[in-house]
Amino acid sequence: MLQCTAFTSLPPVETIVQLLMSSDPPEHPTKAVSGHAVCELGDGHDGEHADHVWDEDARDGAIWFLWNGSRHRFLALPWCPVKAAGGDACELYEEHPADHSWDVEDPVRQALWDDIDRNPDRWE
Ligand SMILES: [Zn+2]
Ligand SMILES: [Zn+2]
Repeated sequence: MLQCTAFTSLPPVETIVQLLMSSDPPEHPTKAVSGHAVCELGDGHDGEHADHVWDEDARDGAIWFLWNGSRHRFLALPWCPVKAAGGDACELYEEHPADHSWDVEDPVRQALWDDIDRNPDRWE
């Protein structure tokens, strides 16, 4: 399953408020918070789009930005507890819609890997 292609801008003021309120804020906020949200769910999923913003290890979960049209919210959610056959953890939140992260293919990342395979000289 390909990754959903929805993206949006993070609301700057609300993002800063979330950082200030976080019990476990990222050490380098500018690296954790790019200013954009890219949906990480599988294409055609139900409900809101969702982007992981930063880990909250103290709560064994993460802060997610969920949006749908012009509505959005930040939510602290626990990790999806399902493990792949090989033992890999799902990188999405508990009870997310659509496929687990190991079955969601990011087309941009895949295109980069394909180009590296085809043109190893260019990528050294
Ligand atoms: Zn989406
Ligand atoms: Zn999952």
